[in-house]
Amino acid sequence: MKTTQKLKGQAAIVTGGDSGIGRAVAIALADAGAKVLVNFAHNHDAADEVVKIIKDAGGKAFAFQCDVSKEDEVKAMFAAAIKKYGTVDILVNNAGLQKDSKFVDMTLEQWNTVISINLTGQFLCSREAAKEFMKRGVVEKRSAAAGKIICMSSVHEIIPWAGHVNYAASKGGISMFMKSIAQELAPHKIRVVGIAPGAIQTPINKPAWETPSALNKLLELIPYNRIGQPQDVGKLAAWLASDDADYITGTTIFVDGGMALYPGFADNG
Ligand code: NAD
Repeated sequence: MKTTQKLKGQAAIVTGGDSGIGRAVAIALADAGAKVLVNFAHNHDAADEVVKIIKDAGGKAFAFQCDVSKEDEVKAMFAAAIKKYGTVDILVNNAGLQKDSKFVDMTLEQWNTVISINLTGQFLCSREAAKEFMKRGVVEKRSAAAGKIICMSSVHEIIPWAGHVNYAASKGGISMFMKSIAQELAPHKIRVVGIAPGAIQTPINKPAWETPSALNKLLELIPYNRIGQPQDVGKLAAWLASDDADYITGTTIFVDGGMALYPGFADNG
C-alpha cells in the first residue's frame, strides 16, 4: 500500500476529516507518511474510525472536535496538534456544508451558517496555520516549503448554482481568499492551493446519486461519465501537499471529470 512516503515526518490538520472527501484526504495524507489530526464537528465515532484505519495501516492520527467557525475552538485545535506533533506542516480546509433554499426564501440563518463554516472557517484555520508556518520557517529535511494550505472549493466557484446561492458565494469567496493569501504568503515559502471537486459520491449530495435515475441525470453533467470518488480528491491533496507540487501556488485544480467544461455545449449548444 505505502509505495512512497512523500509527506514523511510532516503533521497535517484535515478539517471535516470524519466523512466523505475529508476522510479520504486524511487517509491519503497518512498513507504518504503524514501524522494527521482528524477534525470533526459532531461525529466522534466516525472520526475515531478514520483514526483506526490510519493506525491499522501503521500511521499516526488522532481525532479532535472543533467547529471551524468558532475562533477559540480553532485556536484550541492548532494548540492540540502542535502539542502532539510539535508543529503543523499541512492544513486541508475541507469542512463544508449546504443549506439549500430558493433565493427569496433563504433565511439569514441559512446564509450565515454556510458562509461561517465554508468561508470564515477557512479564514480562521488558515490564519492559525500561517502563523505557525511563519514562526517555524522551512525545515529542509521535511519539505521545501514552510507550510502548505489546501482550500477545498468546488466547481461552483465558477459555475453559478440556483437554489444554492449561499454555497456558491462561499466557494466563489474561497477562490479569491485562496489567491490573495497565496500572494501574501509566497515570500514566506508558504504554498496555498485550491481543489475544486465536481460531483463526488459523499453524504453531502446523496440525493444526486442514490437512485439510478438521479445518477443518470447527474452523469449528463459529467463528460467523463462517472461520479467522482473521495479517493480521487484524496490522491490529489496528497500530491499537492508534497514537494512534487512545490512550484504550484495560488491556483485551483479542478477534479471533476469535465463538469466545468460546459457539457451542455458538447452537442452544438
Ligand atoms: P460531507 O458531508 O461528507 O463532509 C463534510 C464535512 O464537513 C463533515 O466531516 C462535517 O463534519 C464537516 N463539517 C461541517 N460543519 C463543520 C464545522 N462547523 N466544523 C468542522 N467540520 C464541519 O461532504 P463532502 O462531500 O465530503 O464535503 C467536503 C468538502 O468538499 C466540502 O467543503 C464541500 O463543499 C466540498 N465539495 C464536495 C463536493 C461533492 O460532490 N461531494 C463537490 C465540491 C465540493
